[in-house]
Amino acid sequence: VQLYDIGFTGSTLDRADTIRRDPGLLADAVQDPTARLLLLDKYRPEVTGELRLAWTELSVATSPTSLVLLGLAEGQPRFASIPSGPAPPRSAALLAAMDGLQPGEAAIYAAARAVLDWHARNGHCGECGNATTPFRAGWGRLCPQCGTEHFPRVDPVVIMLVEKGQEILLCRQPAFEPGRYTALSGFVEPGESIEEAVAREVMEEVGISVGEVRYVGSQPWPFASSLMIACIARAAANAICLDADELEDAIWASRSTVRSVLAGRDGPFLAPSRGTIALSLLKAWAAR
Ligand SMILES: [Zn+2]
Repeated sequence: VQLYDIGFTGSTLDRADTIRRDPGLLADAVQDPTARLLLLDKYRPEVTGELRLAWTELSVATSPTSLVLLGLAEGQPRFASIPSGPAPPRSAALLAAMDGLQPGEAAIYAAARAVLDWHARNGHCGECGNATTPFRAGWGRLCPQCGTEHFPRVDPVVIMLVEKGQEILLCRQPAFEPGRYTALSGFVEPGESIEEAVAREVMEEVGISVGEVRYVGSQPWPFASSLMIACIARAAANAICLDADELEDAIWASRSTVRSVLAGRDGPFLAPSRGTIALSLLKAWAAR
């Protein structure tokens, strides 16, 4: 199974690690007349008529220490400025705007949003509690008190289609819009492999034991800073025992039903939202 068109991937920026590690090169990048700043209203991106992210002059930024070097676009430095507070929850309007952008643009926004939000939420040292300051061009925070270096975290989440013969399992949470179903998912816990996390989550949420688990692909998901790890798991049985605290419903759907729904015809469920890896995974499974 091969995934295509995975949302929030395909950034064209060179992350320029050599500049992050060299204060002299960073100072040059800040002074570069071609340098640009990502235009954000808090965390809301401005979108141009060409369906690209909007950029502005770097001098708008409040202070060089509040800048994150997102990378280089054909050699030209691209920065974002750290906002004063954490990002709001994702909205349907933001996801729709991201889905409409030119290829690669949403990936640049995702990286910026995740690292800016990390700064806003991690102003103090986890070792000694002192206030920390950005370093490494905004890709870390340093504690001036105890010297501990802190780096942006990524939270791994497994997201899986459970397969039995020609059917797969889809589920819905109470907060979803009516009719919407998607793949099962859950955070990987400390001490677990991806395969073990898949097996545990499937057992917890629908009471089904799985055998073989295959990794298929992955997606950065910047709400707040997850890495979605898409898998297909083979079910050992098909009797569903629902965890009603987590899920409202779970159903088996045949390949022909999934194909029909993905083609836009009426069916027993609405497909996962655009831009999610669950949709990419479902499309890939249906096309097989
Ligand atoms: Zn400290």
